[in-house]
Amino acid sequence: MNTDPLADRALADARPAVFWLDRPNRPHPSPALASDLNADLVVVGGGFTGLWTALCAVEADPGRAIVVLEAETTAAGASGRNGGFCDASLTHGLENGLAHWPDEVRTLVRLGDENLVGLLDTVERHAIDCTPEHTGEINVAVTPWQVEGLTESAAAHRDHGMETTLLDAAQTRAQVNSPTYLAGLWRRDGVVLVDPAHLAWGLRSAAEGLGVRFFDHSPVRSLRTETDGDHPAVRVRTEGGSVVAERAVVATNAFRSPVRQISRSVAPVYDHVLVTEPLSEAQRASVGWTGRQGVSDVGNQFHYYRLTPDDRILWGGWDALYHFGNRVGPALEQSPTTSRTLARHFFETFPQLEGLRFTHRWGGPIATTSRFTCAWGTSHGGRVAWAAGYTGLGVGASRFGARVALDLVDGRETERTGLAMVRRSPFPFPPEPLRWVAIQATRRALQRSDRRGGRRGTWLSLLDRFGIGFDS
Ligand SMILES: Cc1cc2nc3c(=O)[nH]c(=O)nc-3n(C[C@H](O)[C@H](O)[C@H](O)COP(=O)(O)OP(=O)(O)OC[C@H]3O[C@@H](n4cnc5c(N)ncnc54)[C@H](O)[C@@H]3O)c2cc1C
Repeated sequence: MNTDPLADRALADARPAVFWLDRPNRPHPSPALASDLNADLVVVGGGFTGLWTALCAVEADPGRAIVVLEAETTAAGASGRNGGFCDASLTHGLENGLAHWPDEVRTLVRLGDENLVGLLDTVERHAIDCTPEHTGEINVAVTPWQVEGLTESAAAHRDHGMETTLLDAAQTRAQVNSPTYLAGLWRRDGVVLVDPAHLAWGLRSAAEGLGVRFFDHSPVRSLRTETDGDHPAVRVRTEGGSVVAERAVVATNAFRSPVRQISRSVAPVYDHVLVTEPLSEAQRASVGWTGRQGVSDVGNQFHYYRLTPDDRILWGGWDALYHFGNRVGPALEQSPTTSRTLARHFFETFPQLEGLRFTHRWGGPIATTSRFTCAWGTSHGGRVAWAAGYTGLGVGASRFGARVALDLVDGRETERTGLAMVRRSPFPFPPEPLRWVAIQATRRALQRSDRRGGRRGTWLSLLDRFGIGFDS
């Protein structure tokens, strides 16, 4: 294993814990399901998708009896572990939307904007203390080929009515002071930074206030159709009990799901994050960053970073680690090698912060699809719907994903369910061992492309032709 004294020193006291969840005000888990219940709707999974499903359903129909079953605790999955970049995009960025749904992209942009407005309205209505910061995001170029990409991206945004500002090296550094920056593209609207755990806990408490029942530490073991009296129903079993409901929404994202078909469309990818101690006034001044924007660089392998409400730096990304057989679990939440790489890159980006220490390091499972956006499906005769696979942009899009899942499970035809993005499934990942081979080949090709000035090479060009890829 490589040693890097600067990175190793900075990581020496970093706790293997999630900064957002490592809080004294983390809500107490509710008791596990220990009986047999009836409900109108059962939701499997207590991340953003499950929480939005429950809250939107009960707000639309206050009489509906809703139960949420969560394997661990609220937001223990990706929802409590992410960067908190809440992006209006439903398509993992405009360019990806254009590549897949050129005829639909204007509608998707509008629906994404409406979704973000709806999300922020809910935050305000329920007084959810998730410190939304309307800072926008700066994409920074750190190599010459990335500068060209930013110029093209600015033009695409302009063509779709989205304001951006192209910054040269000096202008970018005037915003956030890193010697690595060659250019920047600042999107002022459409990205809000949030405290993701507080958002999730607030959604839960809002739903609970409206009568939704939550059971933590209640992993669902099976999901079957059966007849409840004269009515067909779904029975969802945990170790301690079961729920018989008219309908179910499965919101398990990257985790092994009771609905097996999800894993055809979705692969779990571990993304890792570091958080520093709070910056001193002098350290804070040395990075500028008075606009507090979210920042990400734009290589195939990229970093995303932001200030937390208490002025630490959250720094994540780079390696997207797939483990054979769709493996997920606590053992994969720490990667010393990836943490060290991230720390090294951190000090290359901000050399003036030498001496700053990291307090937290963690990883979490991102669900990716071959088109980088959510996929939806129904099963069990239409009584079950699922939504999964937002790749690295699910904080905002999960509200949309949940609303589509509700449309599907309730049999409602809406503008959302008419979208090609909803009607068509992504190109499936192959079964193992081909899945592992294909993902590793693609990861290596992406790394090669970054080293070779962004040139795509044969493998990536082939994937591009079929509209498929791998990302985090
Ligand atoms: C490190 C990291 C950084 C990220 N950064 C960003 C970002 O800055 N911006 C952004 O938009 N997106 C980001 N994402 C992605 C975003 O967090 C996810 O897209 C989003 O949280 C998905 O929400 P979800 O509810 O679908 O999934 P999850 O939050 O993963 O929820 C799934 C839940 O289902 C539960 N579950 C699983 N199996 C069962 C079962 N059998 N029974 C009951 N419950 C079960 C799990 O315990 C989990 O709580 C990031 C993700 C990670 C991991």
